[in-house]
This record gives sequence, C-alpha cells and structure tokens, in this order.
Amino acid sequence: MVHTVVVATKNRGKLHELGQLLAGLPIELVAYADVLRRPLEVEEDGVTFEENAVKKATVIAHATMMLTLADDSGLEVDALHGAPGVHSARFASARATDAENNAALIHALDALSEPERDRETFTARFRCVLALVDPYSNEGAPHVVSGSCEGSVIRNPRGSGGFGYDPLFLVAGTDRTMAELGDAAKNEVSHRARAVA
Ligand code: IMP
Repeated sequence: MVHTVVVATKNRGKLHELGQLLAGLPIELVAYADVLRRPLEVEEDGVTFEENAVKKATVIAHATMMLTLADDSGLEVDALHGAPGVHSARFASARATDAENNAALIHALDALSEPERDRETFTARFRCVLALVDPYSNEGAPHVVSGSCEGSVIRNPRGSGGFGYDPLFLVAGTDRTMAELGDAAKNEVSHRARAVA
C-alpha cells in the first residue's frame, strides 16, 4: 500500500531531494499547493528551524487533513553570527531568488571588518529540521528530526547542481562545493539526508 505524504513546501529543490531521499519507501510525496484548492502562505516567523518546521507541518496538516512533512533549513555562517540562518530563503529580500541571496551573502562577507573580511573561506554549516504531523494521530503532535552538514563558504560560486547556497558551500573534507557533488553524492552527506536518515 502506498501512503500519500503532503510536503509543506513550494521549494522545488527541497521537493526533488526529499523525493530522492525517500525513494525506497512506499510513499508518494505531493506538494501542498497541488492538494489545496486555495492559496495558503505560512508565515515563517519562528526564531529556530524547529519552530518554523513545526508551524509549517501543523498548519498544512490541518488545512489538508493529511499526513504532512515540512522541511525548514538554511545556512549558518560563523563570521556572520549564524546568519542567514532561519532567514536563508529571504536573506536578500522577501521574495529573493537563489542568485539574489547568494549575492547578499557575498556582500555580507565583504562588509565584515578586517582581518575577518580578508579570509578566503568562512566556516559554516547547513542545518535541516524535518517535522512530520499526522492530524489524526497523537492529537497532531509533531515528530521532529534534524541533521547538519559542516563546511565553509567561499566567495566564487562553483558547480551547477543542487539549489540555494550550494555553489558557495565547500563540503568539509572535500574540495568540492555542494553544487559540484551531483545529486547522489549530495544525498550522502547533506543536512537533509542526515535528517531523513
Ligand atoms: P526555508 O524554506 O525557510 O526552509 O528556507 C530554506 C532556504 O535555505 C533555501 O531557500 C536555501 O536558501 C537554503 N537551503 C536549504 N537547504 C539548502 C540546500 O540543500 N542547499 C542550498 N541551500 C539550502
């Protein structure tokens, strides 16, 4: 029997990766926008990835009355005191593209004071929190898991795979950016893969 799981995201990159990471299970993922007949925006006003993931999963689960999975994720750069963090999707502006957010990140690094500004790499990590809500069980209590992937940020983008900040993120222990890894290798080391595991 195949179970349907609603994914509380409009981000095509996340949907694609979650589909690959959960491919071995008897589930079918559907985007919430394809299930709901009315537009529904969930304001991501939490101060942690967990708060936002739980809010997205809960709101969408109760709007669809279906088992719902939400992913809240982002990049934390130590020199920027953890920014862009929960604001990763909107670092440049409310409806920013990946390219605009990447440009805003480089701009923020360029705006650091010396000697920090002169570094070639900046320690960072991707974090992912997944929340699963079944509106019919356990009073809709969320099941929450998380994963992270250490690395560093560079100023010159490299690679064409993945999405978001991948071209600027060097994966620890490799000389490749997340965007140079390709889907299969990214799915072995990514924050999202670790949360799914
Ligand atoms: P959210 O939709 O609020 O969870 O924001 C997620 C944002 O974090 C994305 O729009 C990307 O900017 C960034 N992000 C999350 N996961 C990844 C990833 O796997 N690669 C690159 N950027 C990511």
